[in-house]
Amino acid sequence: MIVDIDRLPREGLKISKDFELLHDEIIEEDAVFLLPLHADITVKKVGEEVYVKGKIQTLLSFVCSRCLVPFEFPVDSAFDLVYLPEELEMAKEELDSDDLNISFYYSRKIDLREVALEQLNLTFPVKPLCSEDCQGICPVCGKNINSGDCACVTKDSDSRMEKLKIFMKDER
Ligand SMILES: [Zn+2]
Ligand SMILES: [Zn+2]
Repeated sequence: MIVDIDRLPREGLKISKDFELLHDEIIEEDAVFLLPLHADITVKKVGEEVYVKGKIQTLLSFVCSRCLVPFEFPVDSAFDLVYLPEELEMAKEELDSDDLNISFYYSRKIDLREVALEQLNLTFPVKPLCSEDCQGICPVCGKNINSGDCACVTKDSDSRMEKLKIFMKDER
């Protein structure tokens, strides 16, 4: 879905499209797409600046980094970007280089599939979690502790109790 900057209609271009992406194109390697990536994007040229604005929606299945159970991760995110001609990249320092919303276009083209993919990657958490307070798995038996304590936890606290009782007996 490559847009030719010089062929943009004066009133701008509006697209509404589903992108079929492969899971190895996204930064979260274990994720699986449950729905295609839907993008609504408007592209408008003002002078040499190109305004790329829109939203992306999809549904992915992530693997929780603590308990390793897959969970659904919905994406519904808006973005508002300005693309400048590549000649200006040299002057980037003078521009507000910290501004993440400024990008550059090359060979007078913008690939909207790339734009949508980049925006999708930005929505991903560093460590995907099925829930903020996920208990993870037991390091001994590998059981998912979210569904109740495993035998090791109870056994462990029992033996600790025993030791404590013995200790208290000795004191007397
Ligand atoms: Zn989890
Ligand atoms: Zn265990």
